Formats: sequence, structure tokens, C-alpha cells
Amino acid sequence: MTKDAPRVLLVEDDKPLRATLAATFKAEGYAVVEAGSVTSAKQRLGEYSVDLAILDLGLPDQDGLTLLADMRTRGDLTPIIVLTARDDEASKVRALDLGADDYVTKPFGVAELLARARSALRHGIQVRGAAPVVRTGHLEIDLSRRVVTRAGELVKLSRKEFDLLAELALNIGKPVPHERLLEAVWGSVDADIRYLRVYIGQLREKVEIDPQGPTLISADAGYGYRLNQL
Ligand code: CA
Repeated sequence: MTKDAPRVLLVEDDKPLRATLAATFKAEGYAVVEAGSVTSAKQRLGEYSVDLAILDLGLPDQDGLTLLADMRTRGDLTPIIVLTARDDEASKVRALDLGADDYVTKPFGVAELLARARSALRHGIQVRGAAPVVRTGHLEIDLSRRVVTRAGELVKLSRKEFDLLAELALNIGKPVPHERLLEAVWGSVDADIRYLRVYIGQLREKVEIDPQGPTLISADAGYGYRLNQL
């Protein structure tokens, strides 16, 4: 184990699942810290600095959302991926609103979780380093110069189109709620959500290779949009 291995905190009370996840993350070169309850997760967070947390919501002592809220209230910006049950839409939305970076619905494939983990870690590093240039697939977004290129070619965006793309880019890999996008681009959460759909359509026309089969900008139905890290 190298000193630079990212450390992941696994909070999950299902022991066989936790053991599988621990083995998977270790095999990928992560250092792993485990907890089976909110109380034990808090202890671990006191003992170790972690780079990423995987948080199950159904825990024996308290709701995982309690831990999430507690960490964010303390200003702890560690990327957090929440594990939710398929039928629990409300908890998922709540977790994102409380500051979770991403969610994975059970049952999930470990490859998907690992991909989300890499994306969340990159985002965590970007938050700390405030990278002014965001790259994904064939797209490059220079946030400070307000310049966007697609496969090296300059993309002409209107001011609002750029503002929308920039808000997505600042949260790359994470779903951004409709309200936050409306606020960022139109200055009000009460702006008409139909504007948002129109502008997302325009952006896709300009940045996607195939606007009919978009891979860069995806919709999280009923929640928001995300710029995928490709
Ligand atoms: Ca559980």
C-alpha cells in the first residue's frame, strides 16, 4: 500500500456486502476503512482522514442521512456516494439535497460503483484544486476563459448556454438539481423549467457527437442534469 492510496470509508451493515466491497476497493489500490453503523463511522472519521465515503442509508443505529447531514454541517466536503434501495426515491433526493455527491441503487455492479468512486474522487480533487479547465470525452471547458472546444474546434455558445454548461462542469459527474441550474443561469429558482429543457437541447446540439443519443449531458428524471465524466 503506497502512502498516496486514496482512503475510502465503507459504511454498510450488511457484512457480506461490506466484505465484498472492501476486497474490491483494496484490489483497485484503495486503502479501506470499514464501519457498520453511524456511531462507528463517526469514530472512524475521527481516527482517519478519508478521501471518499460509501454510505448505506439503512443502518442499525441511525439513518445514514444523519451522518451525511452531520458531515456537511461540519464543513466536511469528503465526496460521499450513497447506496439506496431501488424503491426509495425520496431518500435519494434527500441525500443529494443534503450534499451527497452521487448515489448508486442496490443491487448494483461493483464496476459501476468503482466508476462512480473514481468520478467522485476526481471531483473532490477539483474542488480542492479548483481546476479551471474541465475535460470530458472530446469536450474541453475552460471555465476562467469561458472557452469551449469540441475535438479541438471552438464551440460558439450563447452566454446562457455557457453558464449552464459551466454549472454542470463545476459539478462534473454529479447530478445538479433543476433549481440550482435555474438559479445559476436565470438567477431565480422560479424560472420556467421549460427554458432549461430548451437550453439543454441546444447545448446537446452543440457539444454532443450525436445529439439524439447524448452521452455527455444526461438527465436524472425528476431531479436534474449531469455532465458525465467520460
Ligand atoms: Ca443496510
